[in-house]
Amino acid sequence: MSYKLSFNYSPNFYSRKRKSQNIKFIILHYTGMKNDKESINRLTNYKSSVSCHYYIDKKGKIILMVPDLYVAWHAGKSRWKKFRSLNKNSIGIEISNPGHKLGYKNFKSQQLNSLKKLLRGLITKYKINYRNVLGHSDIAPLRKKDPGEKFPWKELAQKKLCLWHSLNIIELKKLRNKKISELKRKSFFKNLSKIGYYDSKSNKENLFLLNAFQRRFRQELINSKIDEESYIISENLVAR
Ligand SMILES: [Zn+2]
Repeated sequence: MSYKLSFNYSPNFYSRKRKSQNIKFIILHYTGMKNDKESINRLTNYKSSVSCHYYIDKKGKIILMVPDLYVAWHAGKSRWKKFRSLNKNSIGIEISNPGHKLGYKNFKSQQLNSLKKLLRGLITKYKINYRNVLGHSDIAPLRKKDPGEKFPWKELAQKKLCLWHSLNIIELKKLRNKKISELKRKSFFKNLSKIGYYDSKSNKENLFLLNAFQRRFRQELINSKIDEESYIISENLVAR
């Protein structure tokens, strides 16, 4: 499966080249801006100090901004498992979408088609584990919501491009809003850290972690409450 690239280079990257073995993650973002023109200007302007490797515009066009072997500036302060500040270990893909603050939209099928081809190519080229295809909110849950609950992780998982649970949706729905015990609450957070989310002792931070988890794996309801459904999903993901 091949894809066509356009080019619009960003000056925002570290000049030292990295080894291809250091590329272990792919981080997905939405732009969170009004339109492509504004987003592309920002990502290619040295004053912004932000960039990405690939940009997928509204129509699904893929634009290369920083070559893979250079570290782009998309993840910021971030954690996943034992990794910190994931820029150095990841490829960042920005997908055009106004985001939560400017009228969050469904991602377009042309965007998703391009994304799937791009992901397949990168996963194969750098031998990236499909579990390491993550959202910005997974690695920076206190600060970020992108790519958000409208992003079709399940559809990508069907092509083995990311992790998803193997549970029956109808059965799961019966567990929605069902209260759980204190014991399960504790093991829910243990499960989150086994999946890769960072381990926090703070109740306030745990709420953000819970929301990030729901935004990713229980997208129909993000309500800051751990119910039986969220718990069962976390158990399933740990076992996969
Ligand atoms: Zn982002």
